[in-house]
Amino acid sequence: MDLQKQKQKNTYNLSKIIYKKFNNIIPNTFEKLESLPGVGHKTASVIMSQIFGVPAFPVDTHIHRLSQRWGLTSGKSVIQTEKDLKKLFPKHLWNKLHLQIIFYGREYCSARGCDGTICKLCNELYPSRKKAVICLKA
Ligand code: SF4
Repeated sequence: MDLQKQKQKNTYNLSKIIYKKFNNIIPNTFEKLESLPGVGHKTASVIMSQIFGVPAFPVDTHIHRLSQRWGLTSGKSVIQTEKDLKKLFPKHLWNKLHLQIIFYGREYCSARGCDGTICKLCNELYPSRKKAVICLKA
């Protein structure tokens, strides 16, 4: 089954479960959210933080890449990066930081490339850096 069809199937099944099992209300625990078809830990974290205001640090491939480039993690997996970010930053900042990193990444630190020297953040943090940072794979 291709990805599009898989997503459609998951969305259909997820809607049925929310309607039947959760009385048409989006569940507000990680455990229940992650039991839904197509909902992994990252999506559950986004829902918990952005809808319910529960501290979470959703790590997608973009946040993973930026965290590596900025020296916030040396982890090769999003799971390790999430753990490292949660250790580094106080809980009350997690929800906002997640969005700030995404927006900063869109503006300056894209997947396509890293000059290594021109962006404000790295200029400040790594003034002697001369070339792009090579990221480990997600
Ligand atoms: S120099 Fe720019 S693109 Fe490279 S890691 Fe720093 S912020 Fe990201």
